[in-house]
Amino acid sequence: MAIPDIRIPLDLLPVDGRFGCGPSKIRPEAVAALAAVGTTYLGTSHRQDGVKAVVRRVRAGLHDLFNLPDGYEVALGNGGSTAFWDIATFGLIAQRSQHLVFGEFSSKFAEAAGAAPQLGTPSVIESAVGTHPEATAEDGIDSYCLTHNETSTGVAMTITRPTGTAAANDELVVVDATSGAGGLAVDASQFDCYYFAPQKCFASDGGLWLALLSPAAVARIERIKASGRWMPASMDLSIALDNSRKDQTYNTPSLATLFLMAEQLDWMNAQGGLGWTAARCAESATAMYSWAEQSPYATPFVASASDRSNVVATIDLDGVDATTVSKVLRANSIVDTDSYRKLGRNQLRVAMFPAVDPHDVRQLTRCVDYVVRALSA
Ligand SMILES: *Cc1c(COP(=O)(O)O)cnc(C)c1O
Repeated sequence: MAIPDIRIPLDLLPVDGRFGCGPSKIRPEAVAALAAVGTTYLGTSHRQDGVKAVVRRVRAGLHDLFNLPDGYEVALGNGGSTAFWDIATFGLIAQRSQHLVFGEFSSKFAEAAGAAPQLGTPSVIESAVGTHPEATAEDGIDSYCLTHNETSTGVAMTITRPTGTAAANDELVVVDATSGAGGLAVDASQFDCYYFAPQKCFASDGGLWLALLSPAAVARIERIKASGRWMPASMDLSIALDNSRKDQTYNTPSLATLFLMAEQLDWMNAQGGLGWTAARCAESATAMYSWAEQSPYATPFVASASDRSNVVATIDLDGVDATTVSKVLRANSIVDTDSYRKLGRNQLRVAMFPAVDPHDVRQLTRCVDYVVRALSA
């Protein structure tokens, strides 16, 4: 089917039309800074100080942004968050994990743990898409696996240690924070491993994983390694941690990804840190959800307002085809508002990461109104 020829008036358009959930908008200032080091940084050895200084900036920037308590460490390596799931099954989960499953991403980690022959069958607590389950203390569970923001559904949950569990008892809270980290408030004392990749709130490219590790998580990593459990070197958390402490990665990283992330972290910290980024994302979310609540044809997919994500909005449409709306937006240079394909709903999905200007989110709602009016005319 041909895309209806609808031209959105210029005064309604956002300044930047990138609303994808990852890879997501990278600030042009960061790209310009990368270009400026195009012949002095790009194409140089990752074992020399030019690159190690950038890894140091990333690690220190994360310490600052998350106000990490004494003893917490920042580890990193290649492979992104998906690789980290497998890495965790080798080097972080001791015997049995519990998983809260409420969408595509949280289900993938549960599957990885379930398939790992070195681990016991995980405990899986599932809830319907558009909601999230609660973790509960269970005998024999050594890792409670939560997801800060379920990117496939637009549900966010507050990160707290499950009642009755403690890091001191070797019960770790392991959080997939891939799309939440940097845009949602979090208290580091509530997690032992908070892992993510840079292509979402950190406005960089994919392919890298980063993990904020508590002393209990570091002790667990060392203990599993000492037990002699087999693990491939490229997935060995203890090797990754050793290298991270030297501001390097086990094998060659993408230098551009590291640099863009360092730029984004400096920008976030200079603006006021996590308090500032979380408030900015909350402002975008308020604009998006209040528009949808007042709209005759749009409704927030997540029924409970307290479960609605401030970084990924999912908006159901009624009486108008969401795929057509996304295609018309794309033809007007507003990209990646498509719903998560496996959710299969008549829906728009919009990233409101810190790099996205709340003004542009408000403009997007005006563009959607314009397109829907034109399609029904
Ligand atoms: C994007 C995403 C992932 C996958 O990240 P990759 O770096 O592509 O592996 C995992 N979990 C969540 C919550 C995500 O949003």
